[in-house]
Amino acid sequence: MGGLMRRGLLVLAFLLPLAAQAQVLCALGPGVSAYDVSKDEHLSRDTLELAHRVNAALAARCRPNCPEIAIFRNTTAANLMLLDASGQAKVVYSPKFFTTVYNAWGDGAIIALLAHVMGHAINANAPAAWMKSLPAEELRADAWAGCALGGNAVGGRDLGEALTALKKYPPQAPPQASWGQRLPALRLGYTQCGGDGGKFDWAGNPGRR
Ligand SMILES: [Zn+2]
Repeated sequence: MGGLMRRGLLVLAFLLPLAAQAQVLCALGPGVSAYDVSKDEHLSRDTLELAHRVNAALAARCRPNCPEIAIFRNTTAANLMLLDASGQAKVVYSPKFFTTVYNAWGDGAIIALLAHVMGHAINANAPAAWMKSLPAEELRADAWAGCALGGNAVGGRDLGEALTALKKYPPQAPPQASWGQRLPALRLGYTQCGGDGGKFDWAGNPGRR
């Protein structure tokens, strides 16, 4: 835990004031208004492990300005959300949603979705020069998702599954980016963070894999 804190990206604090005003910055599912902050719970151990893997890939690239992000499990979450709770970045996930995603597409899919929402918080604190060409905030969040996949050497079929999950659960807020815009942003992040572009192209083309 100490090492995680020193790397600076995640802070797994469970003591946010319950009444904190929260603004939803990204949601990967409908029903944002049903979110009930009083139902926030400790994240699961499996999710913690996957959050560590996201952290390992992203923290090196946002230091020294990485945001601190709190993560909670919440049965009322709109799949997966990033909120700004009085200045504190906060991720909440629906356990049912994560179970569905994990069972269908595995670890890499959870890593990618988590990294997308965490990417918004990084964009706010530590905008990355290498993604300046991307025209929209949502595409920059996707570039961080690609970075987490590349940094964790997610390839082959696992990478294809992660991309399928990203496509299946797009950010809900308009203006929505098309998959044709999102895929190059994901590829940019993947290659920027150590992934092989050829592997990405193979996995990103369902017709070929
Ligand atoms: Zn987003």
